[in-house]
Amino acid sequence: MKTALEILDAIRRGEATVYEVVSTFLETIEEKESIHNAFINIYPEEALERAVRLDEERPEHLPPLYGLPVAVKDNIAVRGMELTCASRILLGFESPYSATVVKRLERAGAIILGKTNMDEFAMGSTNENSYFGPARNAIDPDYVAGGSSGGSAVAVALGEAPVSLGSDTGGSIRQPAAFNGIVGLKPTYGRISRYGLVSFASSLDQIGPMGRTVEDVALVYSVIAGYDPKDSTSADVPVEPFSEYLNDPQDMTIGVDMGILGEADEEIVRGFYEVIAFLRSEGYRIREVEIPYFRYSVPVYHIVASSEASSNLARYDGVRYGYRAEAEHLEEMYYRTRTEGFGQEVKRRILVGTFSLSYGYKNEYYLRASRIRRLMKEGVLGLLDEVDVILVPSVPVFPWKIGEHPDLIGKVYKADYYTIFANLTGIPALSIPVGGGKFPVSVQLMGRHFDEKSLFRLGRRIFHAFNII
Ligand code: GLN
Repeated sequence: MKTALEILDAIRRGEATVYEVVSTFLETIEEKESIHNAFINIYPEEALERAVRLDEERPEHLPPLYGLPVAVKDNIAVRGMELTCASRILLGFESPYSATVVKRLERAGAIILGKTNMDEFAMGSTNENSYFGPARNAIDPDYVAGGSSGGSAVAVALGEAPVSLGSDTGGSIRQPAAFNGIVGLKPTYGRISRYGLVSFASSLDQIGPMGRTVEDVALVYSVIAGYDPKDSTSADVPVEPFSEYLNDPQDMTIGVDMGILGEADEEIVRGFYEVIAFLRSEGYRIREVEIPYFRYSVPVYHIVASSEASSNLARYDGVRYGYRAEAEHLEEMYYRTRTEGFGQEVKRRILVGTFSLSYGYKNEYYLRASRIRRLMKEGVLGLLDEVDVILVPSVPVFPWKIGEHPDLIGKVYKADYYTIFANLTGIPALSIPVGGGKFPVSVQLMGRHFDEKSLFRLGRRIFHAFNII
């Protein structure tokens, strides 16, 4: 299997046409989809047409992603393609415009192959909350793909696409990346435009790239990152050119918190220690630290995310988008559309969120959670004055069997234990596979706001020490 960089190189040298590249990926999709269900919609004709056009037009200086196929999570708008968020309530809704990230990809020469499967409205950690059935793990289809960007992870791991886009509100890029043995980045909040991303929890959501290597992820990132006036939370901070991400890391101090490892599977802890040993042997300073308020991540997240979701999802009422239930009166239409259109987990989040925000409870829940979140942010800023990056496992557990329904709070919600902190504090985090047995073990580098550069540089070293590619 070729990496995105190798594919782009082959096109640049004239060793492969864009048409050939796209056809190969479409063949793999054809072969694997009936089992793995990584896509909700595929657009083969449109992709091939664009490939032909790119081969014909081929300018002298090729833009950075010229001819590169990309799979896009189905909560990101692509003009003319259906946008479902894996929900019945959006069935048949076609996006009238493209997200900023999609425009940037296309301007750089990329080709969108289709829209990937996910948990409904990005709520979940297994992909089982999809109206279209679960995407299935790339390593063993009897196991969960992870979520919510499960389809984007599986597609890349299987070679259905060289790279993909996911979104990450509490771990939805990094957790499925870990479950399928690929690399995923949750960028700094504000680094990548959310214009055209369907909102789940607006203060946490970020779009990010997924790929088989750190270099591929860094390349896509360098194209889609940067200020966008269409997103009021987008930050006007310059993005370095891609070549800067490939430099070797300078001497760095890496913080590790041994107090949070108790939640993790033994094999995952062992893998984590191996990475620490490797970094030490390379001359990096390892410092034991305590990540502030880390253990409150899961409850704080569920209150904050559900509160924001309950207001964001109020717009799906059967009037403007997608599915509309038959009814005699307007009230009844709203009621039935939402009852029939939303799945169980989405309804649960709306209820939790509405409750947390309601009169008499707001102080106790939403405001208290927001206060802890602020303490986390202040604390991590202080910590990142002392260390350059923080190393934590990506996920405490390995994937489990589809349909096994382990207890929701105990296992499913806890699968996000290590990823949520970066969303609550807005810092960037990169998940990297580092070996393992049947299922991979992954670690995560978290860094200072807008310092994705350090994550790529150090991440590349870690990646190549533990992976043969
Ligand atoms: N698994 C988490 C949840 O269920 C995170 C989802 C996400 O990042 N979109 O909310």
